[in-house]
Amino acid sequence: MQANIVSPPQGIEGSGFFATRFDEVIGLARKNSIWPLPFATSCCGIEFMATMGSHYDFSRFGSERPSFSPRQADLLMVMGTIAKKMGPVLKQVYEQMAEPRWVIAVGACASSGGIFDTYSVLQGIDKVIPVDVYVPGCPPRPEAIIDGFLKIQELVGKEPLRRRYSEEYQHLLNSYHIQ
Ligand code: SF4
Repeated sequence: MQANIVSPPQGIEGSGFFATRFDEVIGLARKNSIWPLPFATSCCGIEFMATMGSHYDFSRFGSERPSFSPRQADLLMVMGTIAKKMGPVLKQVYEQMAEPRWVIAVGACASSGGIFDTYSVLQGIDKVIPVDVYVPGCPPRPEAIIDGFLKIQELVGKEPLRRRYSEEYQHLLNSYHIQ
Protein backbone atom coordinates (compact mmCIF):
# COMPACT_ATOMS: atom_id res chain seq x y z
CA MET A 1 0.00 0.00 0.00
CA GLN A 2 1.27 3.42 -0.93
CA ALA A 3 0.82 6.24 1.54
CA ASN A 4 -0.10 9.66 0.22
CA ILE A 5 2.02 12.53 1.46
CA VAL A 6 -0.14 15.65 1.84
CA SER A 7 1.04 18.97 0.43
CA PRO A 8 2.44 21.50 2.91
CA PRO A 9 0.36 24.57 3.74
CA GLN A 10 0.93 27.85 1.90
CA GLY A 11 3.90 29.76 3.22
CA ILE A 12 7.17 31.47 2.50
CA GLU A 13 10.01 29.18 1.66
CA GLY A 14 13.72 29.89 1.46
CA SER A 15 17.03 28.20 1.90
CA GLY A 16 16.77 26.34 5.21
CA PHE A 17 13.49 27.86 6.38
CA PHE A 18 9.76 27.66 5.87
CA ALA A 19 7.29 30.07 7.44
CA THR A 20 3.53 29.68 7.52
CA ARG A 21 0.55 30.56 9.68
CA PHE A 22 -0.17 28.60 12.86
CA ASP A 23 -3.80 27.92 11.92
CA GLU A 24 -2.71 26.56 8.51
CA VAL A 25 -0.57 23.92 10.27
CA ILE A 26 -3.30 23.06 12.78
CA GLY A 27 -5.85 22.88 9.94
CA LEU A 28 -3.59 20.55 7.95
CA ALA A 29 -3.15 18.22 10.93
CA ARG A 30 -6.83 18.25 11.87
CA LYS A 31 -8.20 17.65 8.40
CA ASN A 32 -6.01 14.60 7.86
CA SER A 33 -6.77 12.93 11.19
CA ILE A 34 -10.54 13.24 11.61
CA TRP A 35 -12.01 10.56 13.87
CA PRO A 36 -15.61 9.87 12.84
CA LEU A 37 -18.40 8.71 15.12
CA PRO A 38 -20.84 6.65 13.01
CA PHE A 39 -24.39 7.18 14.30
CA ALA A 40 -26.16 4.69 12.06
CA THR A 41 -29.80 3.80 12.58
CA SER A 42 -30.84 2.21 9.29
CA CYS A 43 -30.05 1.53 5.62
CA CYS A 44 -27.65 4.46 5.05
CA GLY A 45 -25.46 2.87 7.73
CA ILE A 46 -24.93 -0.10 5.41
CA GLU A 47 -23.51 2.26 2.78
CA PHE A 48 -21.13 3.58 5.42
CA MET A 49 -19.99 0.01 6.11
CA ALA A 50 -19.15 -0.31 2.40
CA THR A 51 -17.30 3.02 2.60
CA MET A 52 -15.16 1.67 5.43
CA GLY A 53 -14.34 -1.51 3.47
CA SER A 54 -11.13 -2.11 1.54
CA HIS A 55 -12.60 -1.12 -1.85
CA TYR A 56 -13.39 2.47 -0.85
CA ASP A 57 -10.82 2.56 1.93
CA PHE A 58 -11.88 5.43 4.18
CA SER A 59 -8.60 5.06 6.06
CA ARG A 60 -6.67 6.77 3.27
CA PHE A 61 -8.06 10.06 4.62
CA GLY A 62 -6.58 9.45 8.07
CA SER A 63 -9.97 8.32 9.40
CA GLU A 64 -9.43 4.62 9.89
CA ARG A 65 -10.34 4.91 13.52
CA PRO A 66 -14.13 5.14 13.91
CA SER A 67 -14.86 6.28 17.42
CA PHE A 68 -17.84 4.92 19.28
CA SER A 69 -17.03 7.20 22.16
CA PRO A 70 -18.23 10.81 21.60
CA ARG A 71 -15.44 12.23 23.74
CA GLN A 72 -12.81 10.90 21.35
CA ALA A 73 -14.56 11.86 18.10
CA ASP A 74 -14.32 14.94 15.86
CA LEU A 75 -16.99 14.20 13.27
CA LEU A 76 -20.52 12.99 13.92
CA MET A 77 -21.80 11.09 10.88
CA VAL A 78 -25.56 10.61 11.16
CA MET A 79 -26.80 7.92 8.80
CA GLY A 80 -30.39 6.76 8.76
CA THR A 81 -33.89 7.63 9.82
CA ILE A 82 -33.97 9.47 13.14
CA ALA A 83 -37.20 9.02 15.05
CA LYS A 84 -38.30 11.97 17.20
CA LYS A 85 -37.71 9.80 20.26
CA MET A 86 -34.08 9.45 19.16
CA GLY A 87 -33.61 13.24 18.82
CA PRO A 88 -32.60 13.86 22.47
CA VAL A 89 -30.18 10.91 22.33
CA LEU A 90 -28.52 12.34 19.23
CA LYS A 91 -28.28 15.73 20.87
CA GLN A 92 -26.70 14.22 23.98
CA VAL A 93 -24.08 12.45 21.85
CA TYR A 94 -23.31 15.77 20.13
CA GLU A 95 -23.02 17.56 23.48
CA GLN A 96 -20.57 14.95 24.73
CA MET A 97 -18.19 15.62 21.84
CA ALA A 98 -15.37 18.03 22.54
CA GLU A 99 -14.84 21.15 20.40
CA PRO A 100 -14.00 21.47 17.61
CA ARG A 101 -16.66 19.10 16.26
CA TRP A 102 -18.33 18.73 12.90
CA VAL A 103 -21.49 17.00 11.67
CA ILE A 104 -22.50 15.33 8.39
CA ALA A 105 -26.11 14.38 7.67
CA VAL A 106 -25.76 11.35 5.38
CA GLY A 107 -28.76 10.61 3.16
CA ALA A 108 -32.25 11.97 2.73
CA CYS A 109 -33.59 10.75 6.10
CA ALA A 110 -30.89 12.42 8.21
CA SER A 111 -31.04 15.56 6.04
CA SER A 112 -34.81 16.05 5.84
CA GLY A 113 -36.74 13.00 7.06
CA GLY A 114 -36.60 11.55 3.54
CA ILE A 115 -39.68 9.65 2.45
CA PHE A 116 -40.90 9.45 6.05
CA ASP A 117 -43.06 12.54 6.29
CA THR A 118 -44.79 11.11 9.35
CA TYR A 119 -45.64 12.08 12.92
CA SER A 120 -42.81 10.00 14.39
CA VAL A 121 -39.79 10.92 12.26
CA LEU A 122 -37.56 13.94 12.79
CA GLN A 123 -37.67 16.01 9.60
CA GLY A 124 -33.91 16.49 9.48
CA ILE A 125 -31.31 16.33 12.24
CA ASP A 126 -30.76 20.09 11.97
CA LYS A 127 -33.93 20.37 14.06
CA VAL A 128 -31.81 19.32 17.06
CA ILE A 129 -28.12 19.91 16.22
CA PRO A 130 -26.19 22.12 13.76
CA VAL A 131 -25.09 20.39 10.55
CA ASP A 132 -22.03 21.27 8.45
CA VAL A 133 -22.54 19.11 5.34
CA TYR A 134 -25.60 17.36 3.88
CA VAL A 135 -25.14 14.33 1.60
CA PRO A 136 -28.14 13.73 -0.69
CA GLY A 137 -29.39 10.31 -1.80
CA CYS A 138 -31.53 7.41 -0.62
CA PRO A 139 -29.14 5.87 0.04
CA PRO A 140 -26.10 7.85 -1.11
CA ARG A 141 -23.41 5.71 -2.71
CA PRO A 142 -20.06 5.44 -0.93
CA GLU A 143 -18.65 7.92 -3.48
CA ALA A 144 -21.21 10.48 -2.30
CA ILE A 145 -20.34 9.84 1.35
CA ILE A 146 -16.66 10.32 0.51
CA ASP A 147 -17.52 13.52 -1.37
CA GLY A 148 -19.31 14.82 1.74
CA PHE A 149 -16.30 13.86 3.83
CA LEU A 150 -13.96 15.75 1.48
CA LYS A 151 -16.19 18.83 1.93
CA ILE A 152 -15.78 18.43 5.69
CA GLN A 153 -12.00 18.17 5.24
CA GLU A 154 -12.09 21.46 3.30
CA LEU A 155 -14.03 23.14 6.11
CA VAL A 156 -11.75 21.71 8.80
CA GLY A 157 -8.59 22.76 6.96
CA LYS A 158 -9.78 26.35 6.53
CA GLU A 159 -11.47 26.90 9.89
CA PRO A 160 -9.92 29.85 11.76
CA LEU A 161 -8.80 28.90 15.28
CA ARG A 162 -10.98 31.63 16.80
CA ARG A 163 -14.22 30.55 15.13
CA ARG A 164 -15.43 28.47 18.08
CA TYR A 165 -15.10 31.52 20.38
CA SER A 166 -16.92 33.86 18.02
CA GLU A 167 -20.27 35.47 18.86
CA GLU A 168 -21.72 34.01 15.68
CA TYR A 169 -20.86 30.45 16.77
CA GLN A 170 -22.21 31.04 20.29
CA HIS A 171 -25.39 32.38 18.74
CA LEU A 172 -25.66 29.21 16.60
CA LEU A 173 -25.30 26.95 19.67
CA ASN A 174 -27.72 29.09 21.70
CA SER A 175 -30.31 28.71 18.95
CA TYR A 176 -30.15 24.93 19.66
CA HIS A 177 -30.13 25.48 23.46
CA ILE A 178 -26.64 23.98 23.60
CA GLN A 179 -24.21 25.49 26.12
S1 SF4 B 1 -32.22 7.91 3.11
FE1 SF4 B 1 -33.09 6.05 2.19
S2 SF4 B 1 -31.46 4.54 2.44
FE2 SF4 B 1 -30.99 6.21 3.86
S3 SF4 B 1 -31.92 5.61 5.80
FE3 SF4 B 1 -33.42 6.84 4.68
S4 SF4 B 1 -34.69 5.34 3.60
FE4 SF4 B 1 -32.80 4.29 4.20
